[in-house]
Amino acid sequence: MPDVTVAGSASEATRNGQPQQVDVAVVGAGFAGLYLLHRLRKAGLTAVALEEAGDVGGTWYWNRYPGARCDIQTIDYSYTFDPELESAWKWSEKYATQPEILRYLGFVADRYELRRDIRFGTKVTAANWDEATERWQLATDNGAAVACRYYIMATGCLSAPKPPEIDGVKDFKGEVYFTGRWPHEEVKLAGKRVAVIGTGSSGIQAIPLIAEQAAQLTVFQRTPNFALPAHNGPPPADRMALLEGDRATYREQARWSLAGVPWPQQTAVSWQLSDAERRERFERAWAAGDLVHILTQLWADQGVDVDGNALVAELLREKIRATVMDPETAAALSPHDHPFGAKRPCLDTNYYATYNRPNVTLVNLRQEPIKEITASGITTDKRTFDIDVIVFATGFDAMTGAIMAVHPITGRGGRSLSDVWANGPQTYLGLTVAGFPNLFMITGPGSPSVLSNMAVSIEQHIDWVADRLIAMREAGFTTVEATETAQAGWARHMADCATLTLHRLANTWYTGANVPGKAWGVMPYTGGVGPYRSICNEVASRGMLGFRLTGPGVAEQCNDGEVVRLQPDVRLVLGMLEQMNLPPIESLGAEGARDFVNQFNKARPPGRPVGEVIDGTLQGAEGPLPYRLYRPATPGPHPIVVYFHGGGWVLGDEQSDDPFCRDMCRRSGMIFVSVGYRHAPEHRFPAAAEDGYAATCWIAEHAAELGGKAGPVMVAGWSAGGNIAAVTCQLARDRGGAQISGQLLVCPVTDCTFDRPSYNENATGYFLTRSLMDWFWDSYCSPAERTDPRVSPLRGKLENLPQAVVVTCEFDPLRDEGVAYAEALAAAGVPVEQLKARGHFHSSLTMVDVVITGVSGRAQMANALRRFAGLPLERRQGEEGAAPGLTAPPREIDAAAG
Ligand code: NAP
Repeated sequence: MPDVTVAGSASEATRNGQPQQVDVAVVGAGFAGLYLLHRLRKAGLTAVALEEAGDVGGTWYWNRYPGARCDIQTIDYSYTFDPELESAWKWSEKYATQPEILRYLGFVADRYELRRDIRFGTKVTAANWDEATERWQLATDNGAAVACRYYIMATGCLSAPKPPEIDGVKDFKGEVYFTGRWPHEEVKLAGKRVAVIGTGSSGIQAIPLIAEQAAQLTVFQRTPNFALPAHNGPPPADRMALLEGDRATYREQARWSLAGVPWPQQTAVSWQLSDAERRERFERAWAAGDLVHILTQLWADQGVDVDGNALVAELLREKIRATVMDPETAAALSPHDHPFGAKRPCLDTNYYATYNRPNVTLVNLRQEPIKEITASGITTDKRTFDIDVIVFATGFDAMTGAIMAVHPITGRGGRSLSDVWANGPQTYLGLTVAGFPNLFMITGPGSPSVLSNMAVSIEQHIDWVADRLIAMREAGFTTVEATETAQAGWARHMADCATLTLHRLANTWYTGANVPGKAWGVMPYTGGVGPYRSICNEVASRGMLGFRLTGPGVAEQCNDGEVVRLQPDVRLVLGMLEQMNLPPIESLGAEGARDFVNQFNKARPPGRPVGEVIDGTLQGAEGPLPYRLYRPATPGPHPIVVYFHGGGWVLGDEQSDDPFCRDMCRRSGMIFVSVGYRHAPEHRFPAAAEDGYAATCWIAEHAAELGGKAGPVMVAGWSAGGNIAAVTCQLARDRGGAQISGQLLVCPVTDCTFDRPSYNENATGYFLTRSLMDWFWDSYCSPAERTDPRVSPLRGKLENLPQAVVVTCEFDPLRDEGVAYAEALAAAGVPVEQLKARGHFHSSLTMVDVVITGVSGRAQMANALRRFAGLPLERRQGEEGAAPGLTAPPREIDAAAG
């Protein structure tokens, strides 16, 4: 293989002292750079790749340390763009070694004759957008500069090694190696005293092999990591059968999966499984030796819920204790400071067992930090170790390091990327940056990248970019640039996604925490590969939403906006509902609609266990009504919340909001009594309102019998149930009881007019439609009755009502009447808190375990109820801080409430 190949036009340019002129300059010749060159060529664009290394391979060129392998199964960690390439290459192992992967990339480079357009041994030292020519000017450290229309960073996410921030490194007189820059020639460790600093994936792969060679190995560990055995060998028969059974489908499923490897999505959550079932799943995952398997196939809440995650973390620690003979070493190797998966877990071969060898010592830097490196070894604040060789497995300045290594990158108006990113990377789609026209990043910060099978993500990015460049050429555009609005929207969406997962609870290279002084933030996109792909496709299909395009002789195009305004899980739920192509509920008639809702509810995960659930009968306005009581597992008596379900006065029953009632019962520590009030059209106005009032009086009178606290009750309701709760408070005030200490109104109906903006903005597409609301109103009451405060409480007298929390959702036709009610209550002197759920729809907060971003909202609602009841507030790990998409109460409303 040639060590340095310079593209012909580059040498010409060098001779002329001119920059090499190409359509596209690519930085990097790893997985991404190679495919990019191939795609660009096929598109008829001239391109050059600039690569610092002496050959292709990227990260696989540099990371030659003992034990280096991939940790995504190799049949998945491969290009899929050409079926003939797929049949021309056979992987020998489940997880190929670094030399085999490097051979594969060399094979690809040869097959598509890519080397002729790669300038090896050439580093890009600066990049400057030239406004006059609308081209990027790249300076290099070897040969001609490059001028290009498009500048694409294919620099990889883990390619800029992080310097070890330890005093005295330069004083050490022995041999020093970095896993990320391992020498090409053999490193002889036999008979030597070796130190390894760092126990991430690189350290964990290298340590067992170094231990076999070295006389003495001392491992310096700052943070223990979770690792599971790779069980390497030939590619597993079951996965091979799946792939070879229908290769095209397998690859397509990978493209639309969450992590870029086709595994089914788990629906069962941890608490629905018995201990034995969980253990059985865990042992299967342990035996599979596959990160994607263990991260996605155990139970649905392992990656999003601290309790669900703690279960798997403990099973993993149990394995460490079972393998490592010395209990103190086992304890030091057991991670406790981060949820499993929040930091990149590792695949190993004999890692934990290596600590049973007599020549291996673990030094726990949490107990004895390194003081300095001296000429002859390493000194902690307790001991000195004489060392011949130090191996730094200390990781990378991940995601941004390799991009910023080209410095400066200067965009429009002379702004430098390092300034723009001073507080963390800002991108649109992880692909582009506002102010930097025609600059693309492959798997940049803000894309799924390192949280996915990189091969799949790389192909997706490159196909998207290449397709856009072709479309631009056809339309006559020569510049493309993300808008600030789109970029800010992406940052919000990124933050919403990050709140959904547990990555925010760990200090890792995903968050920049491993590099001193680096801004903290979850850098990869945590919303999944499939959703991300659909978003990129949506951007293109909506006329390059969020991009400004210009070109000579064509009108500028800027379709500005945010591509995702919904919470990520709400987007998925609405997408699924759309795919179901359901008939409008109002077209089914009352009976048909009720059947539909019952079927829909049956398919939903059951609610979480509570202390006790009792069904009973209470006295309504005109006869007995069913109720369902949810009692907390804690000792009583508990405060009581009278709850009214949603369903437009037509649908639902005392069980239909079961998961929500259970969740709120657990969170608030209160009894929830869900009332089966009478429904329209059989029982029209004011049946539901009068039942609500009568049920509240009955429950308050029977509080002690129900196991509740004597004294005032609280009322709560969602949608039409929120309407009944609000009306009940007005009736109770006017009729001299029951005593109510607070009202929780979730997306309530408060008024009969449809003329507020939210009715128009959200008339269709968000499940509760304007036309469905029309039908609900018609079913419940005549036009003449609608202004009665017993159905339009906003039109009633609002003074002297119980304190309130009013929750509204951004994409809900009822949003503005909820806000109006909260404001009117406040104006009437009622203490009121408003929670505005950004990115949510009408059903978000009651779809427990489906819309996970509603969790913090429910936590805030539960706390409001506790406040009403005079109880201390609750805080659970992982739910602190601002709720996703929920804004704090507007101050002026608080103030007005006095
Ligand atoms: P890493 O995961 O960041 O691990 C670096 C290790 O060095 C950590 O244990 C870190 O401790 C420690 N460290 C850093 N600075 C230190 C200091 N000044 N003093 C003491 N300890 C220090 O880096 P990596 O192992 O190279 O892996 C990075 C990523 O590359 C992986 O997560 C993975 O995505 C990828 N990778 C993949 C494979 C594969 O199997 N395909 C192999 C290698 C790498 P703290 O945790 O306390 O910071």
